[in-house]
Amino acid sequence: MLLATLLSPALLLAEDSQPRAAEDADCAVEIQVVGQDSPRQRMEICQGAREALAFLANYGVTPTGSLQIEVVDSPQEHNGGAAFGSYDRRTGRISLMSMAAISGLEETPKMLGQTMDYEHFRAGVAHEIAHALFHQNGPDAQLSNAAQEYLAYATQLAVLPEPQRRQLIESADVSAWQSGDTISEVYMAFAPEKFAVKSYLHFIGMEDPSAFVTTLLNVKWFYVYVP
Ligand SMILES: [Zn+2]
Repeated sequence: MLLATLLSPALLLAEDSQPRAAEDADCAVEIQVVGQDSPRQRMEICQGAREALAFLANYGVTPTGSLQIEVVDSPQEHNGGAAFGSYDRRTGRISLMSMAAISGLEETPKMLGQTMDYEHFRAGVAHEIAHALFHQNGPDAQLSNAAQEYLAYATQLAVLPEPQRRQLIESADVSAWQSGDTISEVYMAFAPEKFAVKSYLHFIGMEDPSAFVTTLLNVKWFYVYVP
């Protein structure tokens, strides 16, 4: 704020006309960088959002409002633990930890048991975009954590490049959710990788995923029964 008042109008104009602004104009989301910034990071955020939107549009899920992403340098609170990304139901905004800050963590950062890299960063963006769209389209989205995590993980794995997805599926060593199963947050808390893989495999194996997405969006309870 203070810095902005010190800049002359000419400088502000010069800043606005930088190519970066033009790139962002093409982006499906509004990006606000509070933490560390990089052109690659911005590109991956836009690409992750674009791929998530394309994936979800196949099943009739489209944005009904703006999509906002804030890049910060601190870990996000998510389901009681630290995470690289989160969606704030109150403000409708996604917060992401910057790739530079993630890389600087003391412990080797992992995503779904694999080494964190830009591919996982991009897929993580897609996960959070799915949460945002779930909230924009689900009338009782506050109640249905399992339902939205199912869709968020299905989207995340769909966006992940094939070699990493295949490796993840192999190491998780689980089958798709079966008819009669209960998709629950309890399972997710104990085995997030397995939850992600079970959800993805179930989703891509369905004859009519759009109908199931409608079911998910209208779930009014903490868990989902698989029909
Ligand atoms: Zn999630």
